[in-house]
Amino acid sequence: MSDQYCVIGNPIGHSRSPDIHASFASETGQDISYERVLAPLDGFAETVRGLIERGYRGANVTVPFKLEAASLATRLEERARLAGAVNTLRFENGEIVGDNTDGPGLVADIVRNAGVPLGGKRVLLLGAGGAARGVILPILQHAPQAIVIANRTHATADALVAQFAAQAAHPGQVSACGFDDIAAAFDVVINATSASLSSSMPPVPAAAFSRNTLALDMMYGNKPSPFMAFAASHGATTRDGLGMLVEQAAEAFAIWRGVRPQTAAILEQMRSKS
Ligand code: NDP
Repeated sequence: MSDQYCVIGNPIGHSRSPDIHASFASETGQDISYERVLAPLDGFAETVRGLIERGYRGANVTVPFKLEAASLATRLEERARLAGAVNTLRFENGEIVGDNTDGPGLVADIVRNAGVPLGGKRVLLLGAGGAARGVILPILQHAPQAIVIANRTHATADALVAQFAAQAAHPGQVSACGFDDIAAAFDVVINATSASLSSSMPPVPAAAFSRNTLALDMMYGNKPSPFMAFAASHGATTRDGLGMLVEQAAEAFAIWRGVRPQTAAILEQMRSKS
């Protein structure tokens, strides 16, 4: 029988992960099955235990269970511990090991797919929720000049700065500012707020963008978000979160199977469908 994997969420019907993993499996010649699993809102832990009893090898975790998955894991990889959230579980030797590939997926999309190296760059991170928190360590690993975090609730951004001070290469490499304080353009601007989900945008000023800016929205959909439209109208190159989705899946596949699949073909295929 194939090794079994799945993605757990609620709702889950919209998830594109099964198509992505099927494509990776066929490309790498790995014999796996991968399905959607709907967990009751109060039944995540029970669902995971059921999967383990049925011999599953691992699972991706999506909204709203990423924090609960971090609590349920018996062991956390460093990047998942720092993110405080888990999107990838592997079940091995009686342990539930939690990892987080969202941040590495975003960074892979920026560096490999968009061709924008992060070394020495100034990065503006909008938002300080789970997705923002998960991306800070993977960006720091590429030695940016600065990561500046702007969040609606200032205290949450300040807490992230304090949390990541120990991972920074120099004091001030990670800092926070108010949206109104943004007065100069950044090399990379990442929208990690959930504003795009309600077709709105964070109050980022036009000064954040120039012709040399890559503006990336973590959300994806069939049309550019208000953030992407605004950034493009001020000269930036824009990108949605579809590449991040495919790359986080590739990272998870590599954790489970020991081989990292190519992502260009499936990304192009998904873009032509959306
Ligand atoms: P959270 O709920 O944890 O955080 C939401 C963040 O958005 C907070 O910082 C919040 O600020 C801010 N925010 C919400 N609405 C507004 C607004 N109108 N204006 C300004 N700021 C706002 O969400 P997540 O971090 O889990 O997700 C963020 C986004 O990332 C979502 O769009 C999600 O779909 C996307 N995502 C994409 C992935 C992919 O694979 N492409 C993977 C993971 C996430 P405050 O603190 O003030 O409330």
